[in-house]
Amino acid sequence: MGKSKGPGNVPNRPTYSRISYLYQAAAYLASHAETKGPEPEGTERDGATLEKQVSHAHAQRNKHSLSRRLITDLRSTSLKSQIRLSPSMKHTICKFCDSLLIEGETSNTIVENKSKGCKKPWADVLVVKCHTCGGVKRFPVQAPRQKRRPIREKESEEKQRQQADATTDAD
Ligand SMILES: [Zn+2]
Repeated sequence: MGKSKGPGNVPNRPTYSRISYLYQAAAYLASHAETKGPEPEGTERDGATLEKQVSHAHAQRNKHSLSRRLITDLRSTSLKSQIRLSPSMKHTICKFCDSLLIEGETSNTIVENKSKGCKKPWADVLVVKCHTCGGVKRFPVQAPRQKRRPIREKESEEKQRQQADATTDAD
């Protein structure tokens, strides 16, 4: 019996699973790293409380760096296998430091409009700033999405060919 070819048979399935698993693990760690534990009451800080705080801070930092490590793995898996990350995944990863961007926790979002006097509503740009490295991602809100480069090149080639045909017809 050979491999069944059906809708359930996805090429590179193990790689897709790996990317998905890494992403979910990183998201889990990142979302559990930022939640702050109960603050110690009063100003008195005995040794035990301080020790607990320090170990808590250590654990948080470890979760963060582990999360970033997983995203780095995810990115290299995607690069090596040439599997494109889904846009929703890509939008939540900082391309400068591989942090997972969680709104209000590891990143913040503002809408920027650099047109004169903010008169052009279509110039709105969503700016996501990474708290870890300060890098920003920008997403045009209103402007239509540009097609992928190979598609653009193909289209411009076709247009040129059509123009060339038109000129030869005219001769
Ligand atoms: Zn970053």
